[in-house]
Amino acid sequence: MPVLAEYIWIDGTAPSAALRSKTKVLHSLEPSLDDELPSPSAFPEWGADGSSTNQAEGADSDIGLIPARVCRDPFRPGNYLVLCEVTDALGESHPTNARARLRKVLGEGGAALEALFGFEQEYTMVRLDGSPLGFPENGGFPGPQGPYYCAVGAANITGRHLYEEFIDAVLDADLLVSGFNFEVMPGQAEYQIGAGDALLTSDHIWLARWILERVGEDYGVSISLDAKPAKGDWNGAGMHANFSTKEMREEGGIKAIHAACEAIGAKMEEHLAVYGHDYESRLTGAHETASYKEFTYGVSDRTASIRIPRQVANTGRGYLEDRRPNANADPYKIAARMITTVGGLD
Ligand code: ADP
Ligand code: MN
Ligand code: MN
Ligand code: MN
Repeated sequence: MPVLAEYIWIDGTAPSAALRSKTKVLHSLEPSLDDELPSPSAFPEWGADGSSTNQAEGADSDIGLIPARVCRDPFRPGNYLVLCEVTDALGESHPTNARARLRKVLGEGGAALEALFGFEQEYTMVRLDGSPLGFPENGGFPGPQGPYYCAVGAANITGRHLYEEFIDAVLDADLLVSGFNFEVMPGQAEYQIGAGDALLTSDHIWLARWILERVGEDYGVSISLDAKPAKGDWNGAGMHANFSTKEMREEGGIKAIHAACEAIGAKMEEHLAVYGHDYESRLTGAHETASYKEFTYGVSDRTASIRIPRQVANTGRGYLEDRRPNANADPYKIAARMITTVGGLD
């Protein structure tokens, strides 16, 4: 039997990129459930029609798909998902290819930080009319927030089947997940990827995003990464970025954590620029956020821009949590910015 490789890439849709994929049949490989994953180089380069993905004009429409990260395909056992970088007609990294820019930052001194990332990806399960699960089907609102976060019970939870099937799928895919929870707004939930290096963690976020959308198809539910899917007194959706360098993780690392907070604060605009579309609607100062208009950090403070976890302050080493990135942010851009700022690379 040939292998089916699902080639996945990030398109050029603005203001937030979307995922595309298509299937390559590889007669030279055999489906396998072995421990050993084939490397990306075992998969040939491929191409796609960039004029249909906001990445090229129709008259010169070819883009290249360069395999960059492989995982198991949870929907086709023994087969693979292949996350690709996109190149332009000349074979150069496409302007929408933020992964290539992250590789560049790592190659130009960033790797020396030995940075680790953990992203908390929040998402909202929505019906095809755009209304969140858990909101009444014919308009109107559910009861106010309070009982839904990490809840159990039919009065508080909608979408449990989808949520569970997603957990099975990311475990089958062998992604670096570390947890899952339902969130403060009905229909909202979260998964955490990490802690791993910048490229691995970011790649796994994009692969998990694809897997979740794919699971949602079976339920007629689409996955919104909107920063503020319901206006009003409802939580937005973020992607908290947990970050550490080798220095921060070592004894006395708290000094480096404070220095990093200061450096990040000094580059407030540069950071917000890569924290996702419509952060102004979400970072209001309410709903466990800090206002985007000012930068603050503090121990155990969920109203600050950056939280230093209590246990990190107690042990004097560990990591920081930048709470500002939106659910719709690009992890490659966040990671590149974080490493550039904290490494003093610009
Ligand atoms: P919260 O209390 O903010 O909801 P979560 O448990 O949802 O926290 O997420 C914490 C994240 O921090 C996880 O993804 C975890 O992998 C990550 N993390 C833990 N230690 C580190 C570290 N040293 N560097 C970077 N990320 C880390
Ligand atoms: Mn969390
Ligand atoms: Mn959360
Ligand atoms: Mn968090």
